[in-house]
Amino acid sequence: MSSVQRLVERVGEERVAAAMAAFARDFTREAAVHMDACVRCGHCSHACHFYVSTGDPKYTPINKIAPFLNAYRRTAAPWAPLARLFGTAKPVSLTELERWQELIYDACTMCGRCTLVCPMGIDIAALIARARHGMFAAGLVPEDLGAVAERAELSTSPLGATPKVLKERVAWLEDEHGIKVPLDAPRAAVLVTLSSIEIMKYPKSLVALARVLEHAGESWTISTSGYEATNFGLLSGNRDWQRDMSERVIKAAIACGANTVIVPECGHAYGALRWEGANVHGAPLPFEVLHISEYLAALVEAGRLRLEPLAKSLTFHDPCQVSRRGGASAAPRKVLGALGVELRELGDHADAGWCCGGGGGVVAIKHADGLRRGAFRIKMREIEATGAELAVTSCANCRQSFDDGQAYFKWDRSMGSLLELVAGQLREPARAG
Ligand code: SF4
Ligand code: SF4
Repeated sequence: MSSVQRLVERVGEERVAAAMAAFARDFTREAAVHMDACVRCGHCSHACHFYVSTGDPKYTPINKIAPFLNAYRRTAAPWAPLARLFGTAKPVSLTELERWQELIYDACTMCGRCTLVCPMGIDIAALIARARHGMFAAGLVPEDLGAVAERAELSTSPLGATPKVLKERVAWLEDEHGIKVPLDAPRAAVLVTLSSIEIMKYPKSLVALARVLEHAGESWTISTSGYEATNFGLLSGNRDWQRDMSERVIKAAIACGANTVIVPECGHAYGALRWEGANVHGAPLPFEVLHISEYLAALVEAGRLRLEPLAKSLTFHDPCQVSRRGGASAAPRKVLGALGVELRELGDHADAGWCCGGGGGVVAIKHADGLRRGAFRIKMREIEATGAELAVTSCANCRQSFDDGQAYFKWDRSMGSLLELVAGQLREPARAG
């Protein structure tokens, strides 16, 4: 029986109590300020791809945290005793939580676009992430997302890219492409992490990575005890698993004395380590965390990348967790500038970019497929409007969403990788000065 099934086996009261206890842990001052600040203006709805693609008011961002808000008003708000006395905040029920599962998981990619337009700056994405803790505790994480998260906790990888599989893949790629991947080097300046999606679905990313690092003359390694950058503990709402997954990478980096950890083309992996890593570790991280696009931009700035120009028009899809929530939207544009492409920006781009619809673990939730694909149409229209020859991004999860949309809608466009694009334009001889 899985962890989630065991949580579901309990009686309803126990599940609600578990949710309420987890919610209570998350009623921080910051969360309270955000929850008390809403002026019910509704602006956030027009920023959310799920509301815009359906027109259904239940997908209004602030509505998605209703049980969390209700629990706060009943238990932790300054006027909670009055709310209980006059019945303005009803007890949270299991039925209510079950009904809200769709809104908290399927219908929020935690992209943060709603916060951009909110006059009060309410961070809905952060509140959803907190609300997921209570939902997980009540056994209300969607079964498939919970299963993926548990696999990652128990076997390192959400997609079966265990250390053994990683070693086999590396050996195969070294043979096939003539690259060298230093696994488990005892000392290295740079620890490189990977996304299981890359290992299993886009192995050319690993080839590209090795070529770029070799070209730059970097001292680097991949650790078989801390290579997985994705964090399904965070996405599913299991705080302990989130910590375990981050700690594997942090320990591996400390063990090899790395001064930099490179997060791969994965959006939420960047946020998990760059913005939450020190919190879960309980101390400042003794290394710098760079998304691969930031690392590439740093190489460009330092003159360590020698690139053949690319005479193509291209558009760039900003992964929400790297650009809007991560603050790193300038990096890919610096890299694309160095490639000399004709950059045709999407109608909404950089901090304002629309989510692909598959972030926040949504792409792993089967029953969310219809909702996700509806939201994806926004992205399709925007990309078509640019008329660009190529489209690239810097998140393997986004690429997966695009692949799904391409197949489902029989779309004649595809989404590529910024890293692979750069690796394909490296000038020989390989080593730069
Ligand atoms: S964070 Fe993104 S998906 Fe979630 S409610 Fe806001 S705009 Fe919608
Ligand atoms: S935009 Fe902000 S203040 Fe307005 S309804 Fe949405 S969350 Fe509330």
